[in-house]
This record gives sequence, C-alpha cells and structure tokens, in this order.
Amino acid sequence: MENLGNYKLVFLGDQAVGKTSIITCFMYGNFDTNYQATIGVDFLSKTMRYEDRTFRLQLWDTAGQERFQNKQTFLNTSKWIQEVRAERGSHVIVVLVGNKTDLIHKRQVSIEEGDNKASEFGALFMETSAKAGFNIKPLFCKITSALQGNEAVSGTKQEDLVDVNLKASTKSSRAEHDQVESSCC
Ligand code: GDP
Ligand code: MG
Repeated sequence: MENLGNYKLVFLGDQAVGKTSIITCFMYGNFDTNYQATIGVDFLSKTMRYEDRTFRLQLWDTAGQERFQNKQTFLNTSKWIQEVRAERGSHVIVVLVGNKTDLIHKRQVSIEEGDNKASEFGALFMETSAKAGFNIKPLFCKITSALQGNEAVSGTKQEDLVDVNLKASTKSSRAEHDQVESSCC
C-alpha cells in the first residue's frame, strides 16, 4: 500500500456551524460526544484509503469567536476562503460545506447559491448534516479524491490517472489495521 503522506485539513467557519460535530461524526460515528472536552488534542488523524493508496488526514478543528445567524455564516465563508487563499495560495483544496441540512424549515441558503459561491471561489461544495450523519463520509471521500487528483496532476504519469475507483473496504481488512482506516465508497 502506497502512503501518499499527511494532509492537513483545517475546519474554518463561524462558531456553532457544526465543525466539531462533523469531525466527531466522521471519527466516532456519533453526534453528541464532544471529543475536545474528553480528549483535548490538537488534531485527530484518520487514514483514508483510495484504491491502493492511503492518505493520512489530520483534522484540525478551530474555535471561532463570534456566533452569527444562519445566513450570515454563509456570507462569512467568503472571508474564510479569502483568508486561506491569501495565506496558503491557490493550490490549496477548499471545500465549502453547508451543514445542518436536517433543519429543513430553517434553510436560508439554496443548494444553487452554495454551488455558485463554491464555483466563484474555485472550491468544492457539499451539503451535510452531522446530526443525521448525512454526507459526512462522502465529504471526506470527496476531499481524498481531490487530493488524489492533485497528486496525479503534480507528480504521477498519465497512465496512473486512469481507472480511479473509490472502493469500500471489507470488515475483515478493517480489523487488521489498528489505526483507524476508512475507504471511500
Ligand atoms: P462549531 O462551533 O462549528 O464546532 O459547532 P458545533 O459542532 O459545536 O455545533 C454547534 C451546535 O450546532 C451544537 O449544538 C450542535 O449540536 C449543533 N449542530 C451541529 N451540526 C448540526 C447538524 O447537522 N444539524 C443540527 N440540527 N444541529 C447541528
Ligand atoms: Mg467547535
């Protein structure tokens, strides 16, 4: 298995949009536990498998200071994205995440608005609900897939670009690894 290295994944956004909940849902498959309260680590690692390659994702949570209403948190993502681009350049992969889709009647932003904004900023877009566990794993699969794409473009030969599939891992293979490993499905 080829290890394609460590990738830092930083969760940015206003307070209470669900950053910690998304990480918790992905890592532990539950919604209520706040890992920061119990473990108190800077970041959590998860290895994602993509075909015969592995990507180690470091999930860095951040704590925003201000709490805004739903629509404002969407508008504020421009600022977050611009800050990242200014700091890290244009090669960084940005995913705009619209969380809390389970709050159907409180929706302030349409999928189209989210999609348009992501396109405008050269970002990927996904809607999730940490509470319902909706699209959480696909979110990380999308990120892994984008990393794979970047890697292929920057380093590998053309023939490595073909036939890229996201495969589900079997339970037995998962049991053999004591580090947490997740395959895309
Ligand atoms: P953070 O400040 O961005 O890390 O946000 P948290 O993960 O602490 O979540 C803030 C609040 O929103 C908490 O009360 C969560 O339970 C709630 N929350 C997070 N994700 C969802 C979601 O998908 N749906 C709903 N309804 N509530 C959510
Ligand atoms: Mg948080």
